[in-house]
Order: sequence, then C-alpha cells, then structure tokens
Amino acid sequence: VLGVNRTTVVNAYRELAADGLIVGHVGRGTIVADPSRLHEPGTPASGIPWPQLFTPATDVMNDPLLQDTMLVSSRPDVITFATGMPAPELYPIATMRQLLDEALHQAGQSLLQYCPAEGYPPLREALASWIAPSGMRFGPDDVLVVAGSQQGLYLLARALLEPGDIVAVESPTYLGALQVFRAVGARLLPIPVDQHGMRVGLLEDVVARRRPKLIYTLPTFQNPTGTTMSRDRRERLLALAARYQVPVIEDDPYGALRYAGESIPPLAALDQHGVVLYLSTVSKILFPGFRIGWIAGPRPVIERLAILKQIVDLDTNPLAQWAVWAFITRGLLDAHLERLRRHYPERLERMLAALERYATGVLEWTRPAGGFYVWCRLTDGLRARDLLPEAARRGVAFAPGESFHPDDAGTGTLRLNFTFPPVTAIEPGIARLAEAVQALRSI
Ligand code: PMP
Repeated sequence: VLGVNRTTVVNAYRELAADGLIVGHVGRGTIVADPSRLHEPGTPASGIPWPQLFTPATDVMNDPLLQDTMLVSSRPDVITFATGMPAPELYPIATMRQLLDEALHQAGQSLLQYCPAEGYPPLREALASWIAPSGMRFGPDDVLVVAGSQQGLYLLARALLEPGDIVAVESPTYLGALQVFRAVGARLLPIPVDQHGMRVGLLEDVVARRRPKLIYTLPTFQNPTGTTMSRDRRERLLALAARYQVPVIEDDPYGALRYAGESIPPLAALDQHGVVLYLSTVSKILFPGFRIGWIAGPRPVIERLAILKQIVDLDTNPLAQWAVWAFITRGLLDAHLERLRRHYPERLERMLAALERYATGVLEWTRPAGGFYVWCRLTDGLRARDLLPEAARRGVAFAPGESFHPDDAGTGTLRLNFTFPPVTAIEPGIARLAEAVQALRSI
C-alpha cells in the first residue's frame, strides 16, 4: 500500500464493513465476512441500499484501529490505559443520591419539565462565577450549557464552518474534535505540539498564508500529549488570532486538575479582544454520565448557538443541571476536586515509576503536570498498531497515538491514561505493556 494515504485505506475498509462484507478481529486483522451470516436469522433482508443513502456529513472515518482498541479494552481480564475516564470509585455517588432526592422532592415538577435552551439560569450564573477566579470574566448570559463539550464542539463547528473551510488543529489532538471537523467537511491544518504546547511560531506562518476559519487548541494538559502551552505562546496565539480575526476554540476539560507547578491563565482569561470561545465540561472533574458541559464566549455567538442547540435537542437535562448547580454552589465541586488532586498524582507517580522500572530503553514518555495522560513513544521505529495485538495477548490496552493525528503521523506513539485503572493495577499493567514491547522487538 506504499503511496496510498492511510485515510483512503481506512475509508475503503469502512465502506466494506458498512456493507457487511468484511469483519475485524483484534490481532487477526480484517477478514472477508462469512456470506451466510450477512443476514442474521430473524432479520429481514432489506431492499434499501442504506450506505448509498447516507449524506457526506455522516461519512466520517470509523477507525478500525480504534475499534480494535475498544474491543480489547472492554475485556474483563484487561487492564486498560486506553480510556479517557475518571476513577469511577471516586464518584461522589452518596452525595449525588441525596441531591437528586432533594431535587425531586423540592422541585420535581419543574425539573422534569423542559428548560431554556441556553441552560438552567442558576447554573449559567454558577458556572460564570465558578470560572471567574482563573481570570475569566463572563456573565451568566455569556454561558451556554451543553450536553457535554462534545456537543459544544459540534454546535461551534455547525455555526462557524462550511465544507472546505480550514481549521488549524494541534497535531496530535483530541480525536472527538477531529471527527466533528471532518463531519462538517472542514479541511484540517496540523500544527505540531512540543513540550510547550502548540508551536505558535509555525501557526503564524500558516495563518498568514492559509487563512484558517478557526483555531482549535487544548492549551492545558492536552489530550493526548499531557503538555501545557507556555504563557508566552498563549499571548502570541491571542495576538495572532486578533490580528487575523480568527476565532480560537479553547477546549479545557482538564485545567482544574493540576498536580504540580504554577497555573497559567486560560486563553479566555488573557483574551483582550473577544476571540476565544471557551469550552469545558464536568466529565473529567465529576463524571461523564450527566452529560453537562458549557461554552463561554461573546454573546452573539452564545445566542446563535442556543438557537442551533434548540434544533438539536431543545435543552440539556434539567435535573442533571440542577445537581451540578447544587454541587458547585454548595462548595462540593471544589471539595471533590481537592480529593481528585490528592488521588491522581499518586496514580501518575505509580505509572511513571513503573515505566522507569520496566520500560526504560524501549519507551520514551512525558511527565505531565496535570490531567489524565502520559504520552509515550516507541523507540527503534516500532509501530503502536503492531503493539496492540501483543498487548491484547498479555491483557493490557492503550490508545494508539496515530488515531489522534490529523494526518498520517504518530505511528510510533501511544497514550496512556492513569486515572481510570484501579491504583493497584497500574504497575502490573505497565509490566505487561513493557513485556509486549519486548515481544514486538524480538519479532
Ligand atoms: N474535549 C476533550 C479534549 C476531551 O478529552 C473530551 C472527552 N474525552 C471531550 C472534549 C468531550 O467531553 P464531554 O464528555 O464533555 O462531551
């Protein structure tokens, strides 16, 4: 397949899979489907050629590598470093039970009604106040509550992008954002990330030449690399965005999870010109199941997005919004965050110590100051996709780094999450991973 772009191959596979002509198996690759199983018993054969009816917007790549990863990750015997989830044993379930009971008791009739598309007004106010100490000056009307920041990304992309528009993204970056931008037909312009975040010097060059319609960045504890953009680069990025009038989406789900070092103000706090659209969520600092996130930004954007949101889902679950409001205004979220900031550094340290012990010489890794991820590189030109079946055989999973790249780069990289696996599983998991790397090296 030399000379053929990976995306082309993936798309071809996806079409064959959508037609039921091939099926994927971890470690064994993709094989031609058994024709006798194309129509399961009891399923009437459909006369409609469904794949031909789907619009280009739905034609996003369904990366077989990630499907493989998720398959391995879901096995009960597997220690998984592949997710982006918080520690479930730290979820404040007892408190939430009490709050939901109180909510239904006191305001059940109104909380089980529809609510404004912009969000439950007390929550908009609470969010504006909660983010104010980091220097962000937003009023309640500048905040839109969304069903997770994933929805926020989709609404922003729908509101601001047309097919063919260019979006400058970090390389690597959050996979869910790549999928959104691809779904609206945007063209992606990769800007490399180093240990100080997005390489803004390179961005300056391409903004002048290519005039992107949007810049998407994760400046703090980036997903997937864990790096944080320096203050100097933040200021240069903002000056550049203001000069060329390019909006900047600042995606910040991890900013409150700093374990070491001095905090750096978010772009939205440093922004003098109203170019930043700030996006965050309770998914990483509380739990993802409520589906509560928010966008804070200039009011005309918030108003337009609210109209769009109304078309998409009318409003965000009011009961969950009430619970998040109560959690914030009663100081419970800050207390919970303190708890997370006590627990997660231990997990991170365990992972780093285990890497040191088992993987020195075969992996290189970063040391993040916060967030959820350690980013690793295989030495000697080995590929993470080849490591996956070896790891699966030994009962460990990781996220292959190439999936986070907007182009074909990053084949030798992997993302390890240290917040989700039980604390005692981290060392044995890394030992298994190192064994898998050694096995791959000897193939
Ligand atoms: N942005 C980033 C950078 C993320 O890591 C995630 C979750 N993995 C999201 C957005 C989506 O989060 P939510 O659950 O709020 O939709």
